[in-house]
Amino acid sequence: MKEDTDISRYFDYAASAPPFPAALDVFSRASASTFANPSSAHAPGAAARAALEHARAGILRLAGAAGRRLVFTSGATEANNQVIRGVMDANPRGRLLIAADVHSSAWFAKKLYGSRVDVLTLRPGGITGPDEVAARLGRRTVLCSIAHACNETGIVHDVAAIAEACAAKGVLLHCDGSQALGHIPVDAAVGASDFYTFSGHKFGAPRGSGGVICRRPPPPLVHGGGQEDGARSGTENNAAAAATATALECSAGILLSESMRLRGLAVAFADSLLSRTGWCLLNSAPETGLPGLLSFSFPGLSGHSLAAELGMLGFAVSTGSACQSGEAEPSRALVAAGRSRDEALGSIRVSMGRGTTAGAATELVNALAECASRQRRLA
Ligand code: PMP
Repeated sequence: MKEDTDISRYFDYAASAPPFPAALDVFSRASASTFANPSSAHAPGAAARAALEHARAGILRLAGAAGRRLVFTSGATEANNQVIRGVMDANPRGRLLIAADVHSSAWFAKKLYGSRVDVLTLRPGGITGPDEVAARLGRRTVLCSIAHACNETGIVHDVAAIAEACAAKGVLLHCDGSQALGHIPVDAAVGASDFYTFSGHKFGAPRGSGGVICRRPPPPLVHGGGQEDGARSGTENNAAAAATATALECSAGILLSESMRLRGLAVAFADSLLSRTGWCLLNSAPETGLPGLLSFSFPGLSGHSLAAELGMLGFAVSTGSACQSGEAEPSRALVAAGRSRDEALGSIRVSMGRGTTAGAATELVNALAECASRQRRLA
């Protein structure tokens, strides 16, 4: 099996970003040096505890959330589950308002809580509207769950305005920042949310780290030894926490320059593709959305066939969200943004990051335009 990914042809950063070498270095050094259990009373345990708390403070500072709490989890899936289940199970008659473009790790609530869930439809273009949130919060609503930025379209929502609507009605706000932290400024959104969840591997930390930034931790999902002040049991992974703090620091250092560069690449990519493939539709906002994330619909085509053909040319792109790849169901987020089933099924997501060069982006746009035109002729 070929093990090395060709980073220049990797266009799936929104599914997982390559780890920063500095983060891997910290992970391996911390694993070797502070391997003791952070809950142990002896000196090596205290060193592991100190490393964990140092990482926690660093992440909170970099997220603009000094003074808040951070509960480490295995990633955003667990974090989202903990917030939603914690609040909903503690309020058995309470209702949840959930935006239609959230990740499946929040959307599971619709199935689990059924008639206690209200779905917030999006504005055309995929925007979660603060006025619409205000109008849908009812007397029984206890929690509103939104994404800071949609993982499929890259549309960034106005979290501060949505938070105001929630605060006015005493409703808790859960914001999934998995695609935002490390990529765009998040301070205002973190400060405005009651629970802000994130995923380390989306910004160059190793897989398996994430958390909930909050004023007060949600009730635990994982029970046992009472770690994380009772909010999340299980021996703390201080090496992953330290690597996550390092990755966030690395991301923060290049956030402004990279977001400008990636938005420039995305605008040029979209302009070029749309001018050559006039029938394709843009599902993203390259100038204001997540830097470097583009979603296109090719009506009448299969996103999976397009991705497969690009894959044979060495390009890694995704269709809809990576977590849903393999399913022939249209992307919920795209349909919520106003696309038809056919348009959503013919979608491709291109997400760029720090290893993406202008040359590789041009090669991909050429390949995509050619594949799409050929597949359309054959369709
Ligand atoms: N939320 C969003 C918006 C995501 O994009 C993802 C990853 N696809 C997740 C949650 C899940 O994150 P994790 O892989 O850390 O469980």
